[in-house]
Amino acid sequence: MPTTGLSLAVMACLAGMAAPRGASGFCTERVIYLVIDGPRDTEFLEDTTHAHIPGIWNVLRPQGVVSHGLYNNGPTQTVPGHAMLGSGAYQNLPDDGTRRPTRPLVWEYLRDQSQAADSACVLVIAKDKLRALSYSTAHGYGAEDSAVVLGPVSSDRIVVEAFMGYAEAVQPIIAMLCLGDVDEVAHTGDWEAYLSAIERCDSLAVALWQWIERTPPFSGATALIVTADHGRHDDDWTDHGCPCHGCRHLPLIALGPDFRIGAEVTDTLADMWDVSTTMGWVLGLAMPFAEGRFLLEMLRGEGVPPEAPVVSIREEDGAVMLWWSPVTVDVEGNPETISCYRVYRGTDVAFVPDSASLIAPAVPIPIFIDRDTTVVGNPACNASYRVDVLDIWLNPSAPSNLVGEVDFSTAE
Ligand SMILES: [Zn+2]
Ligand SMILES: [Zn+2]
Repeated sequence: MPTTGLSLAVMACLAGMAAPRGASGFCTERVIYLVIDGPRDTEFLEDTTHAHIPGIWNVLRPQGVVSHGLYNNGPTQTVPGHAMLGSGAYQNLPDDGTRRPTRPLVWEYLRDQSQAADSACVLVIAKDKLRALSYSTAHGYGAEDSAVVLGPVSSDRIVVEAFMGYAEAVQPIIAMLCLGDVDEVAHTGDWEAYLSAIERCDSLAVALWQWIERTPPFSGATALIVTADHGRHDDDWTDHGCPCHGCRHLPLIALGPDFRIGAEVTDTLADMWDVSTTMGWVLGLAMPFAEGRFLLEMLRGEGVPPEAPVVSIREEDGAVMLWWSPVTVDVEGNPETISCYRVYRGTDVAFVPDSASLIAPAVPIPIFIDRDTTVVGNPACNASYRVDVLDIWLNPSAPSNLVGEVDFSTAE
């Protein structure tokens, strides 16, 4: 096989094969956040002419997924906004950079859980106060898991150029590029300059994606997230910081090997802390202090069924207990994220697991106790059971082995 610079997992993903995926079960190996400080969505994705984001709309959108449902449901200020994006958790912090986040940032999880080098995570900033995001005060994390900080630099263009120079030298795994010009200019009250700053961010987003696509090891293996920390007031566009629609509604565009292509999500609400919760999951990180959900509506998903559970049975205090090992892989042996288990019961060994025999539709843990005394222990009625499992994309496994109870003598 020729040397392409692409990993096996990436080549498998590009070829549309299900295996082998990375240890996370996804193809994404690196994540770059492009965070635009303070664009109001009425001048961004809500504007149906997309006059100020022609690159994002015409070049990036067909290659990725756009969401209209993202909101900042915490403080609509710069430092807490970036902290919520980075930590996957609600953060109420002063906006002057004097306090660090209290929950770990996604780069701290990465450095804590891997052998990633000191240089593996980078924050490129235009506002000095964002230096506070390099690491949190969370117990067990902190300075030893810090991101490198570049800047503050003087313009959005230099943020992106500084990142590219750094990335070509050390190939970071997680980067957050914090563009500050839109907010700076908006606070001066110059409407035309505010729109021009959005248009420059639009050009930079396209340039960054094109750089990703032509630069190994980023090409084909990197997720690019374009979003914002907060918007601007519905009425006074020069300022922000309240819970009005303009301050809270945020643009969200995502591209990369695990994101849907050419999709637009219009009807699903998302919190800004869902963004890093999702990216941590895609990277295979455990994020125990994150609060967000997985943005399934933006990801491609897969159609490979999980492995079927192998079920055991025993009598327990007059009830029937079923248990099985947690299912953690799909039928091709790749890592699998499980949604829930389902338990079916019939009165003979030939029963069919279907909606009529489904007695427990959403069992979260690999154990189920049947206390239905009309069946269990009733000499007039025997019970047979099968279990299956749904993965997070709702692909069902095959049914498990059959187990049963006959007059309280259980059989496998
Ligand atoms: Zn801001
Ligand atoms: Zn407002």
